[in-house]
Amino acid sequence: MPFTYDDQNVFAKILRGEIPNDTVAETQHTLAFKDITPQAPVHVLVIPKGAYVCHDDFMANASDAEIADFSRLTARIVTDQGLSPGAGGNGYRVISNAGANGVQEVPHYHLHILGGRPLGRMLP
Ligand code: 5GP
Repeated sequence: MPFTYDDQNVFAKILRGEIPNDTVAETQHTLAFKDITPQAPVHVLVIPKGAYVCHDDFMANASDAEIADFSRLTARIVTDQGLSPGAGGNGYRVISNAGANGVQEVPHYHLHILGGRPLGRMLP
């Protein structure tokens, strides 16, 4: 069964203002807010305002302006949170889960930015 966009997903509801969120930053095409169940001292979700289900859908179908806006806001949050190892921070991890094998819970594309503690190795 294809993994399709469902406009009743929680992030769509956040974008429509139907449920609250703890906003970290917002731009024309992108919203960033704190994860409701943080897995680290910093756990920020970055989502496009457009209806894209996962990373490859976003990269294939979003405009260059949306992709640039999303990428720049992600980098800005890393910097603003003091995570950038190039600027004296202790580092971070960016994750995007996609589809069934990726165990994606919310079918609206998002990046997780995690930091503020040692995150352990993900790959063997
Ligand atoms: P996924 O598994 O899809 O990559 O991650 C979805 C994330 O969304 C989870 O980390 C979960 O805690 C978070 N989440 C689910 N519902 C809400 C919500 O209503 N508000 C916020 N801020 N985060 C949510």
